[in-house]
Amino acid sequence: MSEPQFGEVQMHVVKPKAPVIGRIVESTPCMKGRSASYVRHIAIDVSGTPLAGTFRAGQSFGVIPPGENEKGKPHAVRLYSISAPTWGEDGKGCVVSTTCKRLIDEYSAPDSDEHHLFTGVCSNYLCDLKFGDEVLVSGPAGKRFLLPTEPSAHNYVFVATGTGIAPFRGMVGELLEHPDGPSGSEIHLVIGVPYGTDLMYDDWFRDLSERHANFHYHTVISRPDVGRRMYVDQYIVETEDPFHRMLADERTLLYICGIEGMQVGIYRLLQTLGVAGSYLKLPEEGLDLAEADHSVIKRIKPAARCMVEVY
Ligand SMILES: Cc1cc2nc3c(=O)[nH]c(=O)nc-3n(C[C@H](O)[C@H](O)[C@H](O)COP(=O)(O)OP(=O)(O)OC[C@H]3O[C@@H](n4cnc5c(N)ncnc54)[C@H](O)[C@@H]3O)c2cc1C
Repeated sequence: MSEPQFGEVQMHVVKPKAPVIGRIVESTPCMKGRSASYVRHIAIDVSGTPLAGTFRAGQSFGVIPPGENEKGKPHAVRLYSISAPTWGEDGKGCVVSTTCKRLIDEYSAPDSDEHHLFTGVCSNYLCDLKFGDEVLVSGPAGKRFLLPTEPSAHNYVFVATGTGIAPFRGMVGELLEHPDGPSGSEIHLVIGVPYGTDLMYDDWFRDLSERHANFHYHTVISRPDVGRRMYVDQYIVETEDPFHRMLADERTLLYICGIEGMQVGIYRLLQTLGVAGSYLKLPEEGLDLAEADHSVIKRIKPAARCMVEVY
């Protein structure tokens, strides 16, 4: 079977130093229930700008928050994964969207009693914006975390943690709600979150899985009220059917998106299942992933059938 092709993509049509003005057309909470986290689905209208029609599902766009950093320099661009299909939220590629989590933390200085609330600059700015507000945007970014040009030639395992779900909302939507008809590919989406209330777009994914027999939605909760803690890699190892069969099949493409470091567990499970060579570029002399430390594993590059985006 030939390797997947991804075709040409447009990149950096609008640079962060010369951003264009988009307008917020939607900002709604997208989690299942109350939680310690706050995540919003945010849609931005870029029609009339050079960005319109340039994005593909899986790419990211930039947001430039107003103001300056502690060095008196303008804030740097932050990237956000696109959570819409290639045709956008509006069907014309003019409304781009993302799944933005507010960064909220406690700052505490080592060896001192200093402590205060730390709020991330851009995520909170973006989540505070209201319908009609202007926002400076750039993009698109990313040339490999994409659906292949022949989507029906492949089956899909999408693995997300947290807001890593964003590009998969776009990709699953693109595969199943395509204007030319739904894809017949076997599609599995695995999402890992701490609590059941943290699940994002849950009703939408459940509805899709009820309407499409080839789409399977797997939720993995790491801090359940009752029962065992479970992580995405552990879930895939323990759920032999379908994952062992799927991962051994050369039609399968594996996509990983979410928290930096999540790829480590997945790479280890690929080796446990004896398929690491199909998804990863390993050194010729081989590498025992179970023994290698995280810094070594993080330097391993994905091969043609594996797409990784972690942040
Ligand atoms: C390709 C890509 C796609 C992405 N997609 C998404 C997405 O879809 N959704 C999403 O929500 N995010 C996404 N991100 C992350 C996003 O770009 C931002 O990094 C995130 O929103 C935080 O930005 P911020 O400006 O709010 O935080 P910042 O103000 O930039 O703060 C973050 C920094 O603060 C540090 N920090 C954290 N806690 C503390 C603390 N207590 N005290 C001191 N320092 C601290 C962190 O180490 C980090 O350096 C993506 C990133 C990349 C690279």
